[in-house]
Amino acid sequence: MIILDRPALAPLTTLRLGGRALAEIRLESTEDCLRLSEALKGIGGDVRVLGGGSNLLIHDGDLPFTVLRPLFGAADAEPVILGEEKGPDGECVVIRAGAGMRVPHLLSWCVRHDLAGFEGLVGVPGRLGGAVAMNAGAYGCSTAPLMRALEVFTPEKGLHRLGPEGWNAAYRHFSLAEPCAWHMSAFVELALKKAAPGSVRAAMKENLLRKKSGQPVHEHTAGCVFKNPEGHSAGRLLDEAGMKGKRRGAMLFSPMHANFLVHDMKCGVPGTATDALALIDEARRAVFDRTGITLELEVKEWSSCPC
Ligand SMILES: Cc1cc2nc3c(=O)[nH]c(=O)nc-3n(C[C@H](O)[C@H](O)[C@H](O)COP(=O)(O)OP(=O)(O)OC[C@H]3O[C@@H](n4cnc5c(N)ncnc54)[C@H](O)[C@@H]3O)c2cc1C
Repeated sequence: MIILDRPALAPLTTLRLGGRALAEIRLESTEDCLRLSEALKGIGGDVRVLGGGSNLLIHDGDLPFTVLRPLFGAADAEPVILGEEKGPDGECVVIRAGAGMRVPHLLSWCVRHDLAGFEGLVGVPGRLGGAVAMNAGAYGCSTAPLMRALEVFTPEKGLHRLGPEGWNAAYRHFSLAEPCAWHMSAFVELALKKAAPGSVRAAMKENLLRKKSGQPVHEHTAGCVFKNPEGHSAGRLLDEAGMKGKRRGAMLFSPMHANFLVHDMKCGVPGTATDALALIDEARRAVFDRTGITLELEVKEWSSCPC
């Protein structure tokens, strides 16, 4: 376990925003989990769990929480194959991977093993634990339906294993069924479908081309700011409300896709969460005034209030 004092959070996020936390705790082994409660007691404050920081909007200034970084399976670890099972539409291979594994690394492993399920997540940055927490997905795929079990740490129960009855998942939503102050996913078991040789690679290639043609994947963003309201595209609603390209300081809604908030690092002024939040407010009001629809945030906001 490594503990860092007052870490800067902006470099740990793809949007490059955020102030300093009380501390950062890096966890690399299950033994680290045994020492976690004591370490947190010594620091005090609230707790936040950080994956790849690709879905976060963190406030500026001094922040009253400790950031946990579960790095199980990070570096170059490979998923472990646990066995095979018969799924409703074919043979599946069940694997176990650390929550710290980078999603692109997991996806290249799936390509090499011709295992299907994650093709929609191509181009999605972040780590497996973040994909679980967001039930991340695109192009008809999402993370939760692939999950068979989760090894999770809660302050109430420590590290324990849950089956599918242990969580609730919906569109960009994931929570544990048991009440807990917070949770940190450590390892994930996934059932991936055996696919024809080359077909996973081909599907990912097609999805990546589609993604690159419509989203500012090379800019500093946190993906989609708002969830799509039932029956609508948030991007289209924002575009129709005139938000495409709208700017405050270094923060703007992408001229390519109105639902992507971009941090323009080359514009000469530093970007701030204050500007980002003001733009988000303006966008919400503009869409509501035009359509009566209240947009809900997809990005997770880490604020300085203890909540
Ligand atoms: C260019 C770009 C494209 C994107 N495209 C998509 C897309 O197509 N589909 C999509 O769904 N998302 C997309 N995203 C958003 C983002 O990449 C996903 O939501 C991703 O799964 C977040 O993972 P992360 O590890 O970065 O999580 P973080 O941003 O670090 O955290 C997000 C949330 O997950 C929680 N969390 C993280 N790790 C854990 C853990 N181990 N245990 C418990 N909670 C945890 C955090 O506390 C936070 O609430 C995109 C983002 C970018 C920048």
